Amino acid sequence: MNISLSIIYLIATVTFVIGLKFLGHPETAKKGNLISAVGMILAIIGTLFLHDFEVPTINYILIGAALLIGTILGWVIAMKVAMTKMPELVSLFNGFGGGSALLIGLVEFSKSVGVVEKPSAAITSTILSAIVIGSITFTGSLVAWAKLNGSMKDLRLPKYNLINNIIFILLVAFSAYIVLMNTDSYLLIYVLLIASLIYGYLFVAPIGGADMPVVISLLNSLTGIAAAITGILYDNKVMLVGGILVGSAGLILTFVMCNAMNRSLKNVIFGAFGGDSVAAGAGSKVGGTIKKTTASDAAVMMNYANKVVIVPGYGLAVAQAQHVIHELEELLTKKGVDVSYAIHPVAGRMPGHMNVLLAESNVDYDKLIEMDSINPQFTNTDVVLVVGANDVVNPAAHNDPSSPIYGMPILDVENAKHIIVNKRSMNAGYAGIENELFFNQKTSMLFGDAKDALTKLVAELKNM
Ligand code: NDP
Repeated sequence: MNISLSIIYLIATVTFVIGLKFLGHPETAKKGNLISAVGMILAIIGTLFLHDFEVPTINYILIGAALLIGTILGWVIAMKVAMTKMPELVSLFNGFGGGSALLIGLVEFSKSVGVVEKPSAAITSTILSAIVIGSITFTGSLVAWAKLNGSMKDLRLPKYNLINNIIFILLVAFSAYIVLMNTDSYLLIYVLLIASLIYGYLFVAPIGGADMPVVISLLNSLTGIAAAITGILYDNKVMLVGGILVGSAGLILTFVMCNAMNRSLKNVIFGAFGGDSVAAGAGSKVGGTIKKTTASDAAVMMNYANKVVIVPGYGLAVAQAQHVIHELEELLTKKGVDVSYAIHPVAGRMPGHMNVLLAESNVDYDKLIEMDSINPQFTNTDVVLVVGANDVVNPAAHNDPSSPIYGMPILDVENAKHIIVNKRSMNAGYAGIENELFFNQKTSMLFGDAKDALTKLVAELKNM
C-alpha cells in the first residue's frame, strides 16, 4: 500500500476515535458525528484513488453510481425521519451493514471456486464468518426493525431456546466442516447462508419487552464485527479498525444494557430471553379504580411542592413535548421548587433516548439523574410527574414473576408522596402489559397528549 494512503487511513482512524469520544456527551455528539464522517469520506476518497487496484477490476462508473444512490437515499431518509423513528432507522442500517458483509463473503468465496490453489483455512474461516455473522445481523436487524415499528409481534415456538441453541451449534459445526473439507461447493455455502438467515430471524423473533434494548445493542456490535471481518478479507486497515470500534462500542453498550436489565451476557446469547415459562404479553391482570385529575389540580399540587421529579418516557418523544417540559421545569424552579428528571436506561426506544431528547431542548445535563441515584430520593419527593412512561415505572417488574418484565430494575416512583401520570389512555406500553401503578391510591391520571397536557399545566402555573 502506498504511503499517502497509509497516512490517510491513519488520519481517518484518529477521527473515528475522536468522534467516538465526542459522541459520549450530548453537547459534543454532533461535532463527533461530523468529525468521524469527514474521516470516513477521506478514507473512501483515498481508497478509490490511491489504492493499488488492478486496473480492469475497478469500475469507477459502477462505484460512482452506487455511491450516488447510497448517498441520496441515506440523505433523504435521515432528513425525513422523525426522532421517534430513529431506533427503527438504526436497526435498518445495522441490517444493511450485515447484508453488505454477507455479500462480500459470497463474492470472496466465488473467487476461490475452481482455482487450483485453494485459500488457506484461515481465509476460508474469515469468509464463512462474514457470511454467517452478516446473515444473522441482516435478518435479526430486520426483525428488530419490524418489532420496533409494531408490525411484528413476539413469536415463541415451543422450546425456542433449545431450538435456537441447537441451530447455533449446527451452524458452527457446519462451518467447521466446510473449512476442514476445503470444499468449493456453492450448495454447501447456500445451505449455510440460508441456515444463518433463519437463525437470525429465530434469534430475535421471541425477544420482547424489556429485552429488546439488549438485543439491539448486540446486533449493533455484530454489525461492527461483520465489518471488521470484511476489513480482514480486503486487508484494509481502516475498515478493520472502524469495524472493531463499532463492535467494541456495541459490546460495551450491550454490557451496560445487560446491567440495566439485570441480565448476564450468557443469558443474552444462549437463551432465557424473556424466559421460557413466560408467554409473550403475559402478566397478571390488574384492576381497581383510577383517579383522574385536571391540569389545574396538578398545577396546584406541583406549585406547593418542595421537590418534583419528572419521569420522561417514550410518549414524551412521540408528543415532541421536550421543549414544553423544559419550560415547565424552569417555571417550577423559579417558584423555588427543586426539580430533576429521573432517567431510566431503557426509557424510549433506544439507549440514551431521553438524554438526547432533553438535550434537544437544552435541559441542564446536571438535572438528569440516573436510575440508581434517583431511586433512593423518591421517598422524600412530593410529586412525581410521569410523562409518557409506562414499562419503566411498572411495579410488576418487582412483584409479578409471571410478567415479561419481571426482574428489570425500574424507577421506584410509587415511593413518592404523590404521583401524576400523563398519557392518552389506559393503553399498555412496549411490553404490552398493564400497570398497577395507575391504580395506586397515590396516583392521579392526567389524560391527554403530553404536549397538550403540559402546555395546559404551564398555563395554569403561570397564573398562580
Ligand atoms: P412505554 O413504551 O412503556 O410506554 C409509553 C407510554 O407512552 C404508552 O403507554 C403510551 O400510552 C404513552 N404515550 C404514547 N404517546 C403519547 C403521547 N403523545 N402523549 C402522552 N403519552 C403517550 O415507554 P417507556 O419509556 O416507559 O419504556 C420503554 C419500553 O421500550 C421498555 O419496555 C423497553 O424495554 C422498550 N424498548 C426500549 C429500547 C431502548 O433502547 N430504550 C429499545 C427497544 C424497546 P397511551 O397510548 O395511553 O398514551
